[in-house]
Amino acid sequence: MVRTRFAPSPTGFLHIGGARTALFSWAFARHHQGQFVLRIEDTDLARSTPEAVQAILDGMNWLGLSHDEGPFYQTQRMDRYKAVIQQMLDAGTAYPCYTSSAELEALRAEQTARGDKPRYDGRWRPDPDAGKELPPVPVGAKPVIRFRNPLDGAVAWDDLVKGRIEISNSEMDDLIIARADGTPTYNFCVVVDDWDMGITQVIRGDDHVNNTPRQINILKALGAPVPQYAHLSMILGDDGQKLSKRHGAVSVMQYDEEGYLPEAVINYLARLGWSHGDDEVFNREQFVAWFDLNHITPSAAQFNTQKLNWLNAHYIKQADNTRLAADVRRRLELREAKDTGSPSVESIVALYKDRVQTLVELTDAVEQLQGHPTPTDELKAQHLTETTRPILAAFRNALTTTEWEIPAISATLKATLAEHGAKMPALAMPVRLALVGQTQTPSVDALIALFSREEVLRRIDTLLA
Ligand code: GLU
Repeated sequence: MVRTRFAPSPTGFLHIGGARTALFSWAFARHHQGQFVLRIEDTDLARSTPEAVQAILDGMNWLGLSHDEGPFYQTQRMDRYKAVIQQMLDAGTAYPCYTSSAELEALRAEQTARGDKPRYDGRWRPDPDAGKELPPVPVGAKPVIRFRNPLDGAVAWDDLVKGRIEISNSEMDDLIIARADGTPTYNFCVVVDDWDMGITQVIRGDDHVNNTPRQINILKALGAPVPQYAHLSMILGDDGQKLSKRHGAVSVMQYDEEGYLPEAVINYLARLGWSHGDDEVFNREQFVAWFDLNHITPSAAQFNTQKLNWLNAHYIKQADNTRLAADVRRRLELREAKDTGSPSVESIVALYKDRVQTLVELTDAVEQLQGHPTPTDELKAQHLTETTRPILAAFRNALTTTEWEIPAISATLKATLAEHGAKMPALAMPVRLALVGQTQTPSVDALIALFSREEVLRRIDTLLA
C-alpha cells in the first residue's frame, strides 16, 4: 500500500511551496488508493509555534487536502527516538563522541587551512578490530551520539523526479543523531518517523536532497526498508527570483483573503511543475486520476500570477451563485459593510461573476452597487449635458410604466433614444452614473433590471436634482 506524508515544520504559515509539496504527496496517495499522513516536525522548540501549527492545518483544510493519519507531532515521540538511539548504541551503529567544541573548532581551522572541507575526523569512532584505542573519557563530559556512517562505497537512489543520484560515503562524516542533552536531531527523527509510519514514497522539496543519503544510510543501519524519494524543484517568483515574502501572497490563507477559490489554487499548484499534455483546466478528481511522478519537471517552476488570476476567473464563472453569494456576505461582514439587499447579493453575483477575477472584486461590486456611490463632478460634466439631461428625464418617466424585465427595459431604452434621435451612449452613460456612479458596468438594461423600479427612479432623480 502506498503511504506518503507531508511533514511541515511549524515555523510559519503554509506557504505556496509547502502547499504544492502537500498537494503532490496527497495526490500520489489518492491516485494509488493509498494513505496520506500528516506529520508536524516541531522539534525546533525555539521556532515552532502553536499558531503556525494551526495555520498549517487551516491551509490544508482550506485546500481540501485531507489526511488519513495524524497529525503526528515529533515532540510527542521523543521516547521512541531515544529508544532507537539506545538500540543503535547497543548494535554499534552509533557511538558516543566526547569531542569538545573547542576541539572541533581547532579541527575545523586545521582542515580549512589545508584547503579541506571541514568534517569530523572520527576520533571517537570505535574500531576494535583495527586495534584502535579511544581517548580517555573526559570527566563529567556529556557525549553527543554519532551515527557510524559506512566508510566505503556509495549511497545511490533513483529519485523519482531527478533520476539516479549517487553520493560517495567518503563525502559524509559521522552525523550527530543526539545532542549532548539527549535530544535527537532533525535528520534522525525524520528517519525513525518515515520508518515507523511505513512511508513508501517521500515526496519533498529538493532543499532536502542533501539529507537523503544520510537518511538512507541510517535506515539501512536500522534494517528498515528504504522508501522511494521524489525531490520537487523549487518555485520561483514571477520575476524569476526565489519565492519569498516580497512576492506578496506567500501564505495559502492569504490567497483566500485575496479572493481566490481553493479549486483555482489547487488547479494552479497542480500545474506548477507538473503537466498532463496541454490540459490547463481540470478539477481535483481529474488531477488525482492523472497524477504521476513521471511528468514532474525537474527544473524550477515559475509562479505566474496572471495565470492564477485567469484560472480563478474561470472557477468563479463556473461556481454556484448561492455559494458565491455566501462568500461575498462573509467578506462584507469582515469589511463591516451592511448587506442592504438592494440589489440583492445574488442578483449582483449573477451579473458580475463573469466580469471579475477575484471574490474581492465581486465583493467590491456588491458594495458599490448597494452603496449608491455618486459620480465625480468630472464624469457628471462629461455625461450629463444639456443634450443628455432631457433624454434621461424622458427615460425616467417612461420607466414608471415599463414592464420590469430586461427585454421591456431594453425596448424602452431604444424607444426613448429614437424619439430624441440619439445614440445609445447618450442614455447608457448617464444611467450608469445614476445607478453606480461610474461608466464601467455590464450592459445597461441588465444593470437597470438588477434594481427595483423605485430604486432606479430614486437614483435617477438624485442625479437629475
Ligand atoms: N520538515 C521539513 C520541512 O518543513 C520537511 C522534511 C521532509 O519532508 O523530510 O521542510
